[in-house]
Amino acid sequence: MALLEAQDLTLAYDAVSIVDELSLQLPKGEVTIIVGANGCGKSTLLRGLARLLKPAGGKVLLDGQDIHTRPAREVAKMLGLLPQTPTAPDGITVRELVGRGRYPHQGWFKRWNAEDEAAVERAMKLTGTTDLAERPIDELSGGQRQRVWIAMALAQETELLLLDEPTTYLDVAHQLEVLDVISELNRTRGTTVVIVLHDLNLAARYADHLVALKHGKIVAAGHPATVVTEDLVKNVFGMPCRVIPDPVAGTPLVLPIGRHRVLRAESVLAARGIYRTQPPEVEPAPGSGAPSTVRAEAAEEAVEATAASTGDPAEGAGAPAPGPGDSPMPGAPPLRRAEEISEMLAFATRVVDVASVGKNFKRVTFAGADLAHFGAGDAPLDLRIKLMIPPTPTHGAGVLENATGAELPDEFSSLRPGALLAEDEASGWYRRWLALPEGERGSMRTYTARALRPAGHRDNRGGEPEIDIDFVLHLRTEGGRLTGGPATVWAAQAQLGDELLILGPNAALCDANYGGIEFRPGTATRILLAGDETAAPAICSILESLPAGITGHALIEVPTTEDIQGSSTRSGVSVQWLPRGSHPHGELLASAVRSTVAIPAAGAVVTGADPEDVDVDETILWETATASTQPFYAWLAGEAGMIKELRRYLVRDAGMDRKQVAFMGYWRRGKSEG
Ligand SMILES: Cc1cc2nc3c(=O)[nH]c(=O)nc-3n(C[C@H](O)[C@H](O)[C@H](O)COP(=O)(O)OP(=O)(O)OC[C@H]3O[C@@H](n4cnc5c(N)ncnc54)[C@H](O)[C@@H]3O)c2cc1C
Repeated sequence: MALLEAQDLTLAYDAVSIVDELSLQLPKGEVTIIVGANGCGKSTLLRGLARLLKPAGGKVLLDGQDIHTRPAREVAKMLGLLPQTPTAPDGITVRELVGRGRYPHQGWFKRWNAEDEAAVERAMKLTGTTDLAERPIDELSGGQRQRVWIAMALAQETELLLLDEPTTYLDVAHQLEVLDVISELNRTRGTTVVIVLHDLNLAARYADHLVALKHGKIVAAGHPATVVTEDLVKNVFGMPCRVIPDPVAGTPLVLPIGRHRVLRAESVLAARGIYRTQPPEVEPAPGSGAPSTVRAEAAEEAVEATAASTGDPAEGAGAPAPGPGDSPMPGAPPLRRAEEISEMLAFATRVVDVASVGKNFKRVTFAGADLAHFGAGDAPLDLRIKLMIPPTPTHGAGVLENATGAELPDEFSSLRPGALLAEDEASGWYRRWLALPEGERGSMRTYTARALRPAGHRDNRGGEPEIDIDFVLHLRTEGGRLTGGPATVWAAQAQLGDELLILGPNAALCDANYGGIEFRPGTATRILLAGDETAAPAICSILESLPAGITGHALIEVPTTEDIQGSSTRSGVSVQWLPRGSHPHGELLASAVRSTVAIPAAGAVVTGADPEDVDVDETILWETATASTQPFYAWLAGEAGMIKELRRYLVRDAGMDRKQVAFMGYWRRGKSEG
């Protein structure tokens, strides 16, 4: 029988359930580590297991008995808890604090005795804090202090020890020190340990039993070697990664794949005739008679020709093309279809409709067979996309009359659905694109997919899937000519049949975690959506997807009354369009936000946050939090300076937790996006 067990446990704050009908057995004498993304319910679960939260459903059994039917002191003799941020009285010494761990063992008739003294000494010895015994706690370093807290929990001499993020705020050496102490305790005394930890690699190294949590439910549990897989990390943390054996401990080691600084596959370089070292000595294929360099060229041709074709990758390639699983060079990693391995795909589209949806808005509808692969699961909001605007003769801001584009580089052809590429090549595309000469690469601009209609939709112009994009035309007159940024100029003169390459999410591999509109209200039921015209498409999309029962305000500042658009929502969110007219950009929005979210009465909120705290640093333009359990959530997007001011107001003046406020600088005054 497990010493501690949760049965159908539901834990909730204010009727919002955080842990949902969860059942879990904590193996006796082992170290169990609970991992999961921020806000997944890890700490709440620990509090529930420690009897600090009364279940809204189910129960926790301690040694077979419902923990809530047992007296607190009795529980404290069996179970010690180290919370995430414990606080100590001013001036208290290490010995005094560790001594507090003995409280559960004292009572009316049992005073401090030699047994208590010995327990304190043992705890300090095990945690290496004996030398610090007479020092006040506030003089110690973070690592030392954490060891003292652990000593206090140890002095309780319980069979079970629960620790919530015991390594937070510690440098890596102290993190290992703390986890080593806990392991030692487990190995020498057989203490059953449960730890909430955010570092997956440390968790994999120190756990006997790993529990992965997502949205308050267990996704996987067992030995780290079986639990930590690339699929699990993607599912639980939304992070693509590689998992390799940790060369030090042999446990799984997670290597995140970011967007930048990812090694480029030798195979793909080789296919382009580039060798970091000597070209490999390749024996000609039997009967081909071709030397190795010629074969490399043939491979290049094959890769590029197949990448350019829309359908079957073997079609269109003059030379015999490598099929999925083949490799361009002997010994190189095999090639696979882009849609099997790349989260981001390049979609070839052409304009099938252009409509004016306001004085300053143009809706361009794009169609293309590639779009059958576009999407982020059933997450209609996460469709942030990049448009590849072909290079213009001026290489920068375009002028309306002469903006006819040159050819786009074929850098992205291997990322089109159906194209073949090596697995490592699926990432690093942005860096590769940036490295191209400025005059050849064109411009990349970020937009929102306002609507996506699958093939056969009754509103489609033809038989292919379609995407609508709403462009804000921020044109200005210079020297008597209309000019603007490359995307604006492209949209201003878009015509039926024009082609455009769109980079966006691969429906086969992306879900709600694909970076996008970043609307993650968690369990909030009251929301504030605020933005300028560039955020209008995103706000309208959010409004359309909101369920009934959500209330709040959507505030959208647009240049003129003619830019007000029809928006629909099932929710109870009220929508207010704010035509700017002659007001400075952002002024109306700021005042509407202020009247929607009033500053609380003096003293009602004490955030203690100074501006630096709020802004993190001067250049940050984007901060979004993972879903929280707060009842209120704000989502702000638009001109970076304006959005930053709004966010300052909400966090610093109105006292909102910064995790409740997502803010995104969609563009910057006076600064090109690219
Ligand atoms: C996630 C995300 C989603 C977005 N969704 C949309 C969308 O759906 N529709 C949309 O129109 N925009 C959207 N934007 C904003 C868009 O990416 C920028 O406006 C972009 O700068 C336009 O590119 P450009 O080539 O026309 O101008 P740039 O070359 O980037 O800029 C040229 C000049 O124009 C100014 N400028 C840029 N944008 C504006 C503007 N909106 N008003 C006034 N001046 C401006 C710049 O400060 C610069 O001085 C989004 C941005 C992000 C990050």
